[in-house]
Amino acid sequence: MSKMRTDYCGELRADDIGREVSVCGWVDRRREHGENLAFIDLRDRTGVIQCVVDERHDLRSEYVVRISGTVRPRPEGTVNPKLDTGEVEIGDCQVEVLSAAEPPPFPLHSRTEVDENVRLRYRYVDLRGERLQRNLALRATVNSAIRRSMEAQRFTEIETPMLVASTPEGARDFVVPSRLHPGRFYALPQSPQIFKQLCMVGGLDRYYQIARCLRDEDLRADRQFEFMQLDAEASFAGQDEVMAFITEAVAAAVKAVTGNRPDEPIFMTWTDAMERFGSDKPDVRFGLELVELTELFEGTEAKVFQVECVKGINHKGGSESLGRNAIDELTRKCQQWGAKGLAWFRVGDDGTLDGALTKFMSEQEQAALGPAMGAEPGDLLLLIADRRSKVRDILGLLRLELGRPPVTEGGLHFVWVTEFPLFESIDDQGRPIAAHHPFTMPHADDVGLLDGSGEDLLAVRSQAYDLVLNGWELGSGSVRIHRPDIQRAVFRALGISDDEAETRFGFLLDAFRYGAPPHAGFAFGIDRLVAILAGEENIREVIAFPKTQSGADPLSNSPTPIADRHLDELGLRLLPPPAAAG
Ligand code: ASP
Repeated sequence: MSKMRTDYCGELRADDIGREVSVCGWVDRRREHGENLAFIDLRDRTGVIQCVVDERHDLRSEYVVRISGTVRPRPEGTVNPKLDTGEVEIGDCQVEVLSAAEPPPFPLHSRTEVDENVRLRYRYVDLRGERLQRNLALRATVNSAIRRSMEAQRFTEIETPMLVASTPEGARDFVVPSRLHPGRFYALPQSPQIFKQLCMVGGLDRYYQIARCLRDEDLRADRQFEFMQLDAEASFAGQDEVMAFITEAVAAAVKAVTGNRPDEPIFMTWTDAMERFGSDKPDVRFGLELVELTELFEGTEAKVFQVECVKGINHKGGSESLGRNAIDELTRKCQQWGAKGLAWFRVGDDGTLDGALTKFMSEQEQAALGPAMGAEPGDLLLLIADRRSKVRDILGLLRLELGRPPVTEGGLHFVWVTEFPLFESIDDQGRPIAAHHPFTMPHADDVGLLDGSGEDLLAVRSQAYDLVLNGWELGSGSVRIHRPDIQRAVFRALGISDDEAETRFGFLLDAFRYGAPPHAGFAFGIDRLVAILAGEENIREVIAFPKTQSGADPLSNSPTPIADRHLDELGLRLLPPPAAAG
């Protein structure tokens, strides 16, 4: 039996000289040399090989062909050291066209950016390019390293359903109407959260899954409607053990891709992260840390600084590099982010400060500010004064604006952020909003505070932790509540009545009555990890078939309308589209 293919194109080397081979792939480039001689670069997923064809063939770009011939050295002077196969070529070629191709909608080796909609419309052509081939191979390497690591740590892969009841991860659900139960809907899982907890009650001990999660949220560079998570849960384990399991899995993935284990992660409490970096996902690849100045301005005459909190960033050398226009632009940005203004001071040669606000500051304040911020001549000091939470948020954004390096620079810096608050804010009706999800265990010292109300509840810390890589939130996890009494107290604090809790999560509360082990877990986004390892700013570059920013798929045209007959079967009637309504 003769094989269709004996070798991959990109793997032929000088060792193969003299062998008769058959390679298959796409015509990558073609150079005619007179009537009856052409050089064809044939491409498959491993690379390209030059084939010398000396019969007449009408071969065009992206034709799918099988070429059989003999591997031979390239003639002297034509060796191409840039190519892995550059020492050899295939001669005496017989060419068989397996599939003709229309001219591709965009050149595969385009030097200019091809419009993303066109790339997605013809994703199957786009996938042939080097970038996606490399990124998807890298993704597979990450997945398999994670699986191996989790298995070595005695986790069992368990699949959970896609048609579920709503899971409270804080996003909007995608819903699926039920034909057999008209008027009822399944939700697609925002995560396997409840099921993995049920697995723990079910004695499965350590669960993991590379799980598809679906959330109907606005899309961004680091967000898609559907995304993959390494999802894990462990019984009789607490926060430290879970962080260690996940650190190990991530390190294994990085090692599989880069050949080296990353540096050990650093640990930081949420409060520290917010105070020093103005963000719960601190990018520690660069400095520009926030400096606390509230005390320095205590009793100040300057009105702008008579507020709850003053903090600043020392932009090293910024006085020299930033002109007035650039500073005005930064001020405008800060205002867009909600600041009343940006206070700034240039540090002069003798260390004195120059800025519009100095005239309102005492000499003492002026003398203290520079040293407090480690100022040197030529620096630019940027200050925000407001409520503490606002100051942190705005300076956090300003810090990124001034210093954030591209994804490919600065190495890999993992940070575990711990002790998140249990509630992230208070809504219009005075009810707290869960920072993670309502199954998160409060900090042992703060359980008593759950009886409080309003702003007081914001002080309740939780046993939740995030893993951050270079300023991207990779994922979150927590110790779970396994006691019905604490769970009810959290539901109550969230404004979920006992009745509502029973309706929505009764099955979980029920399960906890039948012997629930203490358990904790975590989930992190594989797309984000892969993007960073691939040096991509956008997760769409590491997903085979992503949606556009507006959630559409230009390839299959989804979302698509459905036929009336189908709607009838589901018991659904459509309202007129919003634009036509009224
Ligand atoms: N289910 C959570 C999430 O998707 C992660 C976890 O708590 O394990 O964010």
